[in-house]
Amino acid sequence: MSRIKLHDKEFETFIPYAQINQSVKKMALQISNDLKNEDVLFICILNGSFMFTAELFKEIELEQAEVTFMRLSSYDGTDTTGQVKKLIGLNEPINGRVLVVLEDIIDTGTTIVEVMKLLKEHQPKAVKIATLLLKPEKFKNKMPVDYVGMEIGNDFIVGFGLDYDQKGRNLKDIYKIIE
Ligand code: 5GP
Ligand code: MG
Repeated sequence: MSRIKLHDKEFETFIPYAQINQSVKKMALQISNDLKNEDVLFICILNGSFMFTAELFKEIELEQAEVTFMRLSSYDGTDTTGQVKKLIGLNEPINGRVLVVLEDIIDTGTTIVEVMKLLKEHQPKAVKIATLLLKPEKFKNKMPVDYVGMEIGNDFIVGFGLDYDQKGRNLKDIYKIIE
């Protein structure tokens, strides 16, 4: 068990890399089996999912698999509806393909619901969701999540791509905040 400090907060080891690695490999095998013979495009939702994406994608056994990276931006629209969300970086053809959205973590589900809505406007054949981590308490089954690496409690975590105010993304293990 090791402790670290990022900005003003302390964190302790929560999920060691060996366990993350095992979970990612298992998911990659499942996806590879489920999506045989499909035209699959993996979509990494930046920034948090970059490390999960790299680890998962090298375990995918689909000869024609492709990967792309995108970001969800929110900005204040000029209309009265307030916040408008947009996907940046989506240049690949999507029509008729099977998309696998790669998320680091699903908490309330707001992000993934928005991503799904925006992707479906481009008429994919299907959209699957794969998340390394799920906090089921607040999410309360807003939509089916096809692949879940691990379910965790509500504690704030960092590491393996996830940050606390941009710090901690480089950590190989996942750490939990010490309250
Ligand atoms: P949601 O929209 O599902 O509430 O949350 C999605 C985003 O919130 C995640 O992609 C992630 O960026 C951030 N998030 C949620 N929980 C955590 C956490 O425990 N640690 C970190 N670092 N980010 C989190
Ligand atoms: Mg994220």
